[in-house]
Amino acid sequence: MALRKILTEENEILRKVSKKVVNFDESLWELLDDMKETLIHSTGVGLSAVQVGVLKRVFVINLNGAYFEVINPKIIRREGKQKGQEGCLSIPNRFEDVVRPKTVTISFVDRYNFPMQVTATDFMARAFCHESDHLDGILFTDLLKR
Ligand SMILES: [Zn+2]
Repeated sequence: MALRKILTEENEILRKVSKKVVNFDESLWELLDDMKETLIHSTGVGLSAVQVGVLKRVFVINLNGAYFEVINPKIIRREGKQKGQEGCLSIPNRFEDVVRPKTVTISFVDRYNFPMQVTATDFMARAFCHESDHLDGILFTDLLKR
């Protein structure tokens, strides 16, 4: 495992749409292992592949002892609303209130392409939404303008 450099918002790759993962091979597993190590060594709760310069639909979340590796996610249900503070490892030292769904259900696959589904609420739902947005080139600060 190795630490990867986290890119910040001035890097244009963060605005690109990431590609669906089709090969579940050692290069994907190495990416996931590196992302886990990078996230654990950071102050964040989530990290997407694009933030380390890899345009793949992959993110990891580490929150309250729950660790998720999420590949090719789809938010299949959104319910309610919550407003709360959010930050991003790619936008250091900036924290703003963002409106997100209170609960989301997300379908994805794991590192072996095995289908998974998770229903998350509150801060966990916020983290899933934030990281899913990264895969479409959206940063949380974009949502403040709406
Ligand atoms: Zn972020």
